[in-house]
Amino acid sequence: MDLQFGSLPWKSTLPSRHVHPPLSESIRCDVLVVGSGISGALCAYELCKRGFDVVVLEKRHVGGGSTSSNTGLLQYMNDRSLTSCIGLFGERRGLRFYTLCKQAAERLLTIASELDKDSEMFPRSSLYYASSEEDVRSLRVEYDTLHRYGFHTEWWDSEQIRHRFGFDKPAAIVTHGDAEVNPYRFTHALLHTAKNKYKLRVFEHTKGTQVRHEGGFIQIQTDGGFVATAKHAVFALGYETNEMKSNPNTRITSSFAIKTQTIPNLLDVWHERFLIWETRRPYLYLRTSTDNRILAGGFDEGDISTEERNKLLPSKTAQLIKEVEALFPQLAPLIAENAWAGAFGVTQDGYPYFGEAPHRPGCFFIEAFGGNGTVYSTIASQIVGDLIEFGFHPDAELFSYTRR
Ligand SMILES: Cc1cc2nc3c(=O)[nH]c(=O)nc-3n(C[C@H](O)[C@H](O)[C@H](O)COP(=O)(O)OP(=O)(O)OC[C@H]3O[C@@H](n4cnc5c(N)ncnc54)[C@H](O)[C@@H]3O)c2cc1C
Repeated sequence: MDLQFGSLPWKSTLPSRHVHPPLSESIRCDVLVVGSGISGALCAYELCKRGFDVVVLEKRHVGGGSTSSNTGLLQYMNDRSLTSCIGLFGERRGLRFYTLCKQAAERLLTIASELDKDSEMFPRSSLYYASSEEDVRSLRVEYDTLHRYGFHTEWWDSEQIRHRFGFDKPAAIVTHGDAEVNPYRFTHALLHTAKNKYKLRVFEHTKGTQVRHEGGFIQIQTDGGFVATAKHAVFALGYETNEMKSNPNTRITSSFAIKTQTIPNLLDVWHERFLIWETRRPYLYLRTSTDNRILAGGFDEGDISTEERNKLLPSKTAQLIKEVEALFPQLAPLIAENAWAGAFGVTQDGYPYFGEAPHRPGCFFIEAFGGNGTVYSTIASQIVGDLIEFGFHPDAELFSYTRR
């Protein structure tokens, strides 16, 4: 699949990345992880820590899939509000989803602190503003719901928003406990640490082409003509999962993002490097980078072809610049030094999918689809880790392929 188009933001931030060889012989291990995006890397790291002998196969290079498009916001609030999750899934399952997301955002900071390379991950707060007066009522309902269930939030009126950011919005929820990351560096750091500390083996430019079940083992045939054999396999194939296992409840849409020039006075107008997003759908979201640029994205498109997506990049770039300049006119003119379009997976009910595939014992899939992909990948690494180690996790059903 053509996962992305344009000028990607992260590769240049890791000029001397570690290069892994392709698979050049048949091998055996405890767990095979196919795919080395942020999901595969988190899962491989988790399994290594638990003492499994793990091998990662990657058909491109490490982090070369959608992880290279990720703008690196790590938030526990989701595209579907807590109020809406409770309405759709019931109180226990709605609340549990938000609690797991909150815990995952915290866990990510702990994981980053264990790694032997810096992944530019920092704790952040978020501003979720009402895009119009009409949205204030439902935003207030969401604030009350979050507050009732113990999430650390604040309600800001227009005066408080203007005081901190200078722009006019009618109201906002401020959440604490979020974070930001350089996803490309983080993915590389996870695998680098697992390789050094736990003897993880990683093979790039090695595509898993066929899966066979043989005598209680899983055998993956690779495009180089070799076979990798393991007791368990985790398929973390990102938005290309459908090439190996179809899921009628997922859909691939398109998303767009930019990274601006460095702005020396950025922090004069941007309160405490907050992550910012809004109630409009499709929404605009933005954050700062460690080198004082603005990363902004959004204005997703539904069912368009890859060609249409790529053709839209110049107009979406102009729209993103215009919207960010409207919020921060003092920073104009903004220049998009990077602008890119990417495939973006969503699910029908807003919850990601992961767990053991029905009728394929020992084969686990991770589809961290949705706006909080990295947070979902983190939850997935824990749950899949427990399913492989103990055969059980109390929250597995929430994300399973057989959920109601
Ligand atoms: C513009 C944009 C902005 C985003 N911003 C955010 C954000 O701010 N925060 C957030 O949390 N998420 C964000 N996301 C989503 C995020 O990028 C994804 O959730 C994340 O990249 C998914 O990681 P992954 O490892 O599952 O997939 P990928 O990164 O795509 O990794 C899958 C890997 O599997 C490999 N692979 C596939 N098939 C095979 C095979 N047969 N054999 C071997 N290897 C194979 C691929 O080459 C790839 O490297 C954004 C996405 C886009 C497009």
